[in-house]
Amino acid sequence: MKNFLFGFVLFISFHQLASAQWFKPSSNQKIFSERKIFPITQSGKIDGMPANTIIISIDDGPTIEASGRILDVLEKHQVTATFFWQGQFVRIPSRRGVVERAYRDGHVIANHTMNHELDFKTDRDLTRSLMQTHELLVPYSGNANIQLFRAPGGVWNSWRADVGNSHPVLRDYVGPIFWNAGGGDEADWLCWRNNISSKACADGYLRAIRRNFSNGTGSLVLLHDLNTKSAELLDLVLEGLMNDHIDWEFKLVEDIPAVKELAR
Ligand SMILES: [Zn+2]
Repeated sequence: MKNFLFGFVLFISFHQLASAQWFKPSSNQKIFSERKIFPITQSGKIDGMPANTIIISIDDGPTIEASGRILDVLEKHQVTATFFWQGQFVRIPSRRGVVERAYRDGHVIANHTMNHELDFKTDRDLTRSLMQTHELLVPYSGNANIQLFRAPGGVWNSWRADVGNSHPVLRDYVGPIFWNAGGGDEADWLCWRNNISSKACADGYLRAIRRNFSNGTGSLVLLHDLNTKSAELLDLVLEGLMNDHIDWEFKLVEDIPAVKELAR
């Protein structure tokens, strides 16, 4: 049943990919890609990265408990990650400590909208959500060479790209940043919803990562920092990878050539 579900998810995403428009940047054209799946290619690979690449990305926080424990795990394994955070949580004063620690520890903090909106009625709504989050993140932008954006739920279209690209600040963003591990039936939020243990969930992530490797691509891994079990999961995934005979290289989203190419 699990395999069937995974196949179904793949079918849907490749079906969507088939209709995606391919974005060719010109020298004065920015930066929000019109590609629905970026920087993952049509064949599910990270654009331009070797197969031993691992990129960790963590979405939806910051939260005091889950983000805090994830920062502990990343510190333990000496891995830096990209956090796509919601402005509504970044601005809560009691969460400031977590944000400052993530920044101090060298992680990249990126834009995931203000309130995780999946739907925007007008250009103004979209611009406001991204810009409010942008303003909140300005003090923590020093670790990143490129401003990054991930679309909530991966919802993206060329209208959104146009709105971003026509804004004087937002046109410098690179995104939407998708993923190729952690988005199938191994996804952490699905594990917690279905009462799957951290160990079994980590095995799902490791299978997805190793499957990518056998298909000749690295993994852009997606986890969420809303549930502390995701910290346990990340610890198990990183331990599992350390025990592999593959010489994994941990990179940041901004290291991906296809991302760099779009930046100023
Ligand atoms: Zn999200």
